[in-house]
Amino acid sequence: MNNIHPIFDKIATREQKEEQLRQRGVTLWFTGLSGSGKSTIAIALEQLLTKKGYLCQILDGDNIRSGINSDLGFSSADRTENIRRIAHISRLYNHTGIITLACFVSPTEELRRLARAIVGSVDFVLIYISTPLTECSRRDVKGLYAKALRGEIADFTGVSAPFEVPADADITIDTTLRSVECCAEEIFSQIIKRIEYGKL
Ligand code: ADP
Repeated sequence: MNNIHPIFDKIATREQKEEQLRQRGVTLWFTGLSGSGKSTIAIALEQLLTKKGYLCQILDGDNIRSGINSDLGFSSADRTENIRRIAHISRLYNHTGIITLACFVSPTEELRRLARAIVGSVDFVLIYISTPLTECSRRDVKGLYAKALRGEIADFTGVSAPFEVPADADITIDTTLRSVECCAEEIFSQIIKRIEYGKL
């Protein structure tokens, strides 16, 4: 028995996975008002990254609230738990060498601090999509602003609940006068050093 050395703690480390994928796992955490463009830009960025050979995973309300977080509502405690779980999922992806694009309003410094603490500062890139409320409500992609303004949605960020502008955003993008592709390319140019293998 003395000569048997368990190898499970030695194989398939994060470093090996990153070497296999030839990329670094990071979390690109998109914050901003509903309709600011988080998901649209993340999708465009994912396409750009995929074309260049990077492996990514988008996390957004669609694939999170319908599955792993389907038991959560919108109380303050549930919103925190939502972000806590998403951050842990992001961390797991990062430790598999995968680039995570997490798109959540995450309106308060406290929520974003929680996400950063769980993911780890080294792997966490905060991207603030700063499209102003007037433009988001003009777009009203999901008809939510109209409903919120009629008082049909409680605690709707930007209308009846605050959005705290992040003081620590790594990248800030206002989509008002720019194409989706232009926004995605700008983020790409700013994160390339963080994801390239062997460049840290
Ligand atoms: P969020 O994920 O922040 O709630 P969405 O991505 O769902 O926002 O919606 C953003 C809307 O804004 C889409 O209808 C998109 O087509 C539009 N839009 C216009 N210009 C841009 C841009 N430069 N970047 C992102 N979205 C844009």
